Amino acid sequence: MSAALPPLSARYAGRRVLVTGARGFLGRAVCDRLTAEGAEVWAPSRAALDLLDRAATKAALAEARPEIVVHCAVDGGGLGWMAAHPIESGLHNTLMNAHIIEAAEACGATRFIGAGSACAYPRLCPVPFTEDHLWDGYPEPTNGPYAQSKRTLIDLCAAYWAQRRFFAVTPLLANLYGPGDHLDPGRAHVVSALLQRVVSLPPEAPLTVWGSGRPTREFIYIDDAVEGLLRCADLDEPTTINIGTGEEHSIAALAEAVCAAADHRGGITFDPTKPDGQPRKCLSAEKAATLLGWRAQVGLAEGLRRTVAWYRAARAA
Ligand code: GDP
Repeated sequence: MSAALPPLSARYAGRRVLVTGARGFLGRAVCDRLTAEGAEVWAPSRAALDLLDRAATKAALAEARPEIVVHCAVDGGGLGWMAAHPIESGLHNTLMNAHIIEAAEACGATRFIGAGSACAYPRLCPVPFTEDHLWDGYPEPTNGPYAQSKRTLIDLCAAYWAQRRFFAVTPLLANLYGPGDHLDPGRAHVVSALLQRVVSLPPEAPLTVWGSGRPTREFIYIDDAVEGLLRCADLDEPTTINIGTGEEHSIAALAEAVCAAADHRGGITFDPTKPDGQPRKCLSAEKAATLLGWRAQVGLAEGLRRTVAWYRAARAA
């Protein structure tokens, strides 16, 4: 955490906080951090709180009356999963997002923070992406319906603020990685996919990487993402805001960094039959630095080292 910032406990200690998606990668890390900051965390399973059910969601929140809602639940995955599931990624996420923000406002919560995604930006956008370009064009079509569900949530946050003065914000997160990431290869994003592959390769075998290696992405370490997300409750008023690092890496460079972190010397091969997706993706970190005084702290090499150690331990367990 940045030295000059107040502790997160100033906002969250003693508060009843609902975390949706609490069994997922981001949600679990949010719960851990909130618990460490002294919050009273309500982390219902999907069975206990079905966000696809509008009436049940409203009733559950009306009964539990959380003061702050941190919405991390998604039906999502990496590029391959998104391309194969445009219905689930569009329909489910649109419904869940609409139901949870409605229920949060109706139950009297004072803050709603929804986890957004850099994929909500236009497919072709000046890099680094600044918040004023969000609505300039349609997102990458392979994750279009998912991205549109995030855009709807962003729009609803603005609507709730404009009409009811309900503090609702959906920060746009860079691609997450780190310990605790999903191990399901069918849904994996690139870092998780490459790390899982590299730790199980024989020493001389090359690491296979999808596509051309030329697309760029930005990767935020999970602890940084959690902190940036939670700090958005301290904005003076809701606004579109990126939570990223501002550091752009090609997929080829990422693959090399993954091999270095895992000490793998078998080289890299590219599989051009697999899709590249969006050509470039990298968020500007400047608005968050200005409004929140916050910047990500963990660089890619260090974050990958920590994550490799976790993958090796998870594999051995
Ligand atoms: P995206 O940011 O929504 O495109 O999410 P991903 O993390 O799934 O993909 C990011 C980039 O990594 C794309 O250009 C992929 O082609 C590339 N990539 C390379 N190897 C892999 C892999 O094994 N799995 C995934 N999901 N992406 C890969």
